[in-house]
Amino acid sequence: MVAGEIARPVDVLVLGGGPGGYTAAARALQLGREVVLVEAEQLGGTCLNIGCIPSKALITLAHDLQRARNRAAAGTGLVGEVGVDLAAGQRWMGDVVGRLRDGVGTLLRGAEVLHGTGRFVGRDRVAVEAEDHVEHLQFREAIIATGSRPAELASLVVDQVRILDSTGALALTGVPDDLVVVGGGYIGIELGTAYAHLGSRVTVVEATDRILGEFDVDIVDVVRRRLDELAVVVRTETTVVADEGDAVIVESAAGTDRIQASHVLVAVGRLPNTDDLQLEEVGLVTALGGRIAVDEQRRTAVPTVFAIGDVTDGPALAHKAYAEGRVAAEVMCGMPSAFDQVVPLIAFCEPELAAVGITEGGARADGRSVVIGKASFAVNGRALTLEQPAGLVKLVVEPDGGFVVGAQIAGPNASELIAELTIAVECALRLDDLVGAIHPHPTLGEAIVDAARAAARRLQRSAPIDRQTLVR
Ligand code: FAD
Repeated sequence: MVAGEIARPVDVLVLGGGPGGYTAAARALQLGREVVLVEAEQLGGTCLNIGCIPSKALITLAHDLQRARNRAAAGTGLVGEVGVDLAAGQRWMGDVVGRLRDGVGTLLRGAEVLHGTGRFVGRDRVAVEAEDHVEHLQFREAIIATGSRPAELASLVVDQVRILDSTGALALTGVPDDLVVVGGGYIGIELGTAYAHLGSRVTVVEATDRILGEFDVDIVDVVRRRLDELAVVVRTETTVVADEGDAVIVESAAGTDRIQASHVLVAVGRLPNTDDLQLEEVGLVTALGGRIAVDEQRRTAVPTVFAIGDVTDGPALAHKAYAEGRVAAEVMCGMPSAFDQVVPLIAFCEPELAAVGITEGGARADGRSVVIGKASFAVNGRALTLEQPAGLVKLVVEPDGGFVVGAQIAGPNASELIAELTIAVECALRLDDLVGAIHPHPTLGEAIVDAARAAARRLQRSAPIDRQTLVR
């Protein structure tokens, strides 16, 4: 701090107004603390403004279009042509985002929201740089929730016109002819599938040997088959080495190739926004990759400073940030809170993928013995009436006791179905609990019961007497 500058005292200072920051601020307010939240751009952060919400709006628009066409082609009685106007779609998406942003404003009533960029200038001080002034704040406790930004590639400089990151890809008002998606993670596959549904010719270029690496191979295979049907080309173990203006040059073991690209989406991961925070001023150093180390209570190495969301380790997901925000605020207020839950993961591709807990692949790699139960949506009445029979529910079960320790779903509404299995894993439910709970008919959730029955049968076959109680 420059000598002579007066710092205004603040009780709880939250840096960043995304899912982590606004949740922490709202919970601290509820618990009686005085809160100042500093946001450099817009309340709602990445998730609300340029991430989860606009991407799911675009994806829904694209998938609805495709599904209507599929149903008509399948002879379900739906007739007539449906089309899409992406510019109108953008206005609708903007409206959805605006309404939700207003909601965040309401949630923060009682907090002081400062628009500006914060950086540390001492052990208990932050300078907030607004358009025309700098304000200094002296905090009792602070929460770092500054989120993340897209990682970049030297060979593809993002201009948001032809070379896009996810923000640019979500703002298009026309459908690209030839879209090359660089990166086969969930953001690349979600947006690539959406544009394929809207009519783009899509190629996915992925440096590793598989796409959607967080999910088991048999789960991803369901998506791979759908990408094949959509004529989306997936090139694994391939890297982009140069851009030629209307094409990109890629390299793989097979040699060098040229792929037509009216547009390129660079989706190669995200980097934490910690570089410009002057963390050294508060006594913090970042771990490898720029993330801030925290304990279960989301406390950093400096006891008065917490960190949550994408700046910390673990999956960069909004619901993780929400949960961490609550924990940090509660711990600050003396409550025995901790972040120790399982974090479900979703990819809104076609069909949707969802996962929670231990994967079969992870268990096998660790040498852990598990039993698998699977059920296909091809025999599920509701999936057939939706004309979406592709996919399966897969349960990973601890053989001793029949506890559900993991689950993966590929199929319609997997994003909603995973909630039940998240409770199952979190609360250590047994197969018997899932089978014993009546699931309404006809619903997609019945596939969960079928998968639990399949797992229980396998368990019984391996030890028929001890495990009799595991199946009904
Ligand atoms: P952010 O949401 O990034 O918010 C951080 C905020 O801090 C920003 O508003 C930023 O302006 C502000 N800020 C940064 N530096 C400063 C500073 N120095 N001073 C003041 N303010 C600052 N997650 C899901 O769970 N589900 C999804 O379906 C999903 N889809 C996604 C799709 C896309 C295309 C993208 C890009 C992300 C998606 N995510 C999804 C990830 C999700 O958006 C993030 O995990 C989540 O937003 C992280 O929340 P956060 O609070 O940590 O940070």
